[in-house]
Amino acid sequence: IKIDWQQFQQDLNGIKVLSKPAQVKKHSRDFFWYSPILERQLSDQFADIVVQPQTQQELLHCLEVAYRWDMPIVVRGGGTGNYGQAVPLAGGMIIDVNAINQILEIGEGYVRVEAGCNIELLNQTLKQQGYELPVFPSTQNIATVGGFVAGGSAGIGTMNNGPLREKGNIICLKVYSVEAQPQCHYFENDDTLLVHHAWGINGVITEVTLRTVPSRTWHNCIATFDTYPEAYEAALAIAKNPHIECKLLSVLDHRYRTYFTALDGYVPTGKALMVTMVDDREVDALQAAIENHKGVLELSMTNEQIRAEGLPLVYEFSYNHSNLQVLKADKAMTYLQVSFPQPLTVEKVREVHELVKKEVFQHHEFAVLNGELISFDVPILRYTTDVRLYEIIGTYEACGCPVADPHKYQIEAGSMHNANFTHLAWKKRLDPKQLLNPGKSMAWEKVKDMTPEQIENLSEI
Ligand code: FAD
Repeated sequence: IKIDWQQFQQDLNGIKVLSKPAQVKKHSRDFFWYSPILERQLSDQFADIVVQPQTQQELLHCLEVAYRWDMPIVVRGGGTGNYGQAVPLAGGMIIDVNAINQILEIGEGYVRVEAGCNIELLNQTLKQQGYELPVFPSTQNIATVGGFVAGGSAGIGTMNNGPLREKGNIICLKVYSVEAQPQCHYFENDDTLLVHHAWGINGVITEVTLRTVPSRTWHNCIATFDTYPEAYEAALAIAKNPHIECKLLSVLDHRYRTYFTALDGYVPTGKALMVTMVDDREVDALQAAIENHKGVLELSMTNEQIRAEGLPLVYEFSYNHSNLQVLKADKAMTYLQVSFPQPLTVEKVREVHELVKKEVFQHHEFAVLNGELISFDVPILRYTTDVRLYEIIGTYEACGCPVADPHKYQIEAGSMHNANFTHLAWKKRLDPKQLLNPGKSMAWEKVKDMTPEQIENLSEI
């Protein structure tokens, strides 16, 4: 169908629009290029237009106009997702919500913000009032709160506060439908999971209330160990030690260090790394535990000290940030996300790595999920062919380590493994014309003609 873009823009009543091809292309990308497969599949997918509403009222007007014109919509925060979550697959309109970013209320143990609020700015504001977010992504300097809730899952703080979906972390979401007159819905407590991590397919989040925790002084620490198993074993012991509270606990293959050039002069090369943020009152206990496992605490600095040295905070050597440093230097690398079975043992880590060690640099993150300590591998590996990549995935799975495939752009293909029927039932309710982020759910095509109740009652397809 031919769109009269001039008329479309007139209908937007002066809401800020970007329509220059270079601007639209830039806003149509996220960090999918981590995957050579997604790079192939998504790099020529662009929106037609980008709108930048400045207020929630303007955002609602964009939704009304989109509904009237049957215009596909992708809501965009920081655009830092790794799976092409924010890439438009059917052209249409990107709604950039970064200007809708007010911190609305800071209360005891909670904060209410508009969806486009920058996470780092929020953490800085909270700190002045004695609070911090329990969990935030390592991309906090770019990412938005709405984007984290819609597209993210875990991060810095998952070690002591669980992932975002852990009970109590998300308190309330204000969400709009896409209709002739968008309707407001509030999702509270456990019901927030009906929208969390749905990649914006089932509603537009305009406000988020998150739990906050008392702010602490976190110390940035990096230790080295002769071998990866030694580093993993030490991390496992530290994670279980009730006298050492870490907001972050990561273990990395010695080969990562070559790419962490910012650490030259601070941390030696050739050794496995442990990267951690620990309560500053517990640094001595951490150091003792590291030395007990034949490690050396090489770097130990407050945020102020680390900034004064011109170094990044240590979380930039964890999660997908560590992988970013490798990928920036070597485009032939890519990554995986691998769960490890309970009970966590160094033997399992050794056994699996033995099979893939030539191509794969291990990297475990420790975290708490439903009160249980878990560890997952976010390794970097050298990409050669799709066939070899899936052979490696098969090797992990044969060892009882499920892989959340980050080389797929459909929500069910990654960490979810099966359709989330409650997400899809709410899509049916809140997105009757199926305009929100089309193409991101494989299961949607199979259920879209059912009623929300029928969809909710499905257990698998
Ligand atoms: P975007 O990428 O803009 O959007 C993500 C998804 O949410 C898209 O589908 C988008 O359409 C949808 N969306 C955005 N805003 C809204 C809204 N208001 N309403 C409805 N839908 C919306 N993730 C983690 O969870 N933890 C990490 O530690 C982490 N580290 C990372 C490190 C690197 C180097 C990179 C590249 C990525 C990392 N990520 C991580 C992924 C990503 O950065 C985070 O999930 C981030 O919080 C996403 O926020 P964003 O504002 O960039 O979202």
